[in-house]
Order: sequence, then C-alpha cells, then structure tokens
Amino acid sequence: MELYSGHINRLIDELSSLPGIGGKSAQRLAFYLIGLPKDRVHKLANAIVDARENVHYCKECCTLTDDDICPICSNQSRDHKTIMVVENARDLAAYEKTGKFEGVYHVLHGAISPMMGIGPGDIRLSELMKRLQTEEVDEVIVATNSSLEGETTAMYISKLIKPTGIKVTRIASGVPVGGDLEYIDEVTLLRALEGRTEL
Ligand code: ZN
Repeated sequence: MELYSGHINRLIDELSSLPGIGGKSAQRLAFYLIGLPKDRVHKLANAIVDARENVHYCKECCTLTDDDICPICSNQSRDHKTIMVVENARDLAAYEKTGKFEGVYHVLHGAISPMMGIGPGDIRLSELMKRLQTEEVDEVIVATNSSLEGETTAMYISKLIKPTGIKVTRIASGVPVGGDLEYIDEVTLLRALEGRTEL
C-alpha cells in the first residue's frame, strides 16, 4: 500500500531528484508546500518556470542572463581585452562582488573531469576559443577552482591558448585546495588575482 497519495508521491519524487535533497528533506518540503496558501505555491512554481524559460547563455561570455548579451559584456567601460575564465556563474558573482576586476569573463559551465567522463567538448571551451579568434584579447586569466578538475582544465586551456600568443595566467593558489571559489572571502580572491602567474 502506498503511504501517501499519488500526487504527494510524485512531488516527493521530483524534489528528491534535486541536488542535495535526500528522501527525508523531500518529504519535509513536500508537506511544507502542500501546507502553503495556493497563491504562494503558484508564485514559487511560476518563478521556476519563468527563470527556466527566460534565462539563457550570454552570446559573448556564456554566463546566465535575461538578455542576449549580459550587462557585463555590454558595459563598454570594462576592459574587454582581459578575460577571466571561471567554472560557473557563481564564481563570476564571487569575483564581481569584490568590485575590483575591470575585465570581462568567460563561464565554462563545468570543468574537465576524466573520472566523471566530462571532456573539453562538454564545457564551453570552443566558445572561448572563438572569442579569442574574433576579439582582440591581451590576457586570459584562468580562475578555475584549485580542485583536480579545475587544475586539469587550467592546464588544458593554457595548452590550447599558448600557440595563439595570447598571455595566459593562472590565479595564485592562495585559494584552499578543493575550495569552491564562491565560498572564499573577497580578500583571498583579490590576493589570488593579484598574485597570478603566467602559465
Ligand atoms: Zn556576457
């Protein structure tokens, strides 16, 4: 016999498929949602659908944006000749919060991980190479995480870009090993940026 109604079971199934949500949390969330006023639930459901429908990759840097070109890329007062490569939009936000980086970004949406079967073709690398061919770029700062995947990606990018003659640098490893960029404080982020070395 099913413990809950079919609708509740379906909701629990959907919730538990989300990252970081186990069976217990999914149950708790499902009952919480069912206990909410209907208009609150509609608001939440609409926010999810609207975000999914209207957010897409920036045509320049591949970050998530509501527009064709994100506000950073369309800002002409930024230094478009310096591109910082990050793994995800959260890392971009972490650097952006420091307010000290004047350049633009490129978001890979992942990192190379042979163990997980994620190769160079699975992240937004070809888009980066296309930018380097069509734009005038002085420096590419590789700010991937200091995890094994992040380092592997940095090495790969450096090998790819070196023949073009464009300067490739790597942020300093003041960043704790395995540390996600988004959790590191601004001072450490800035130190990592200032202490970057050429690859
Ligand atoms: Zn952009």
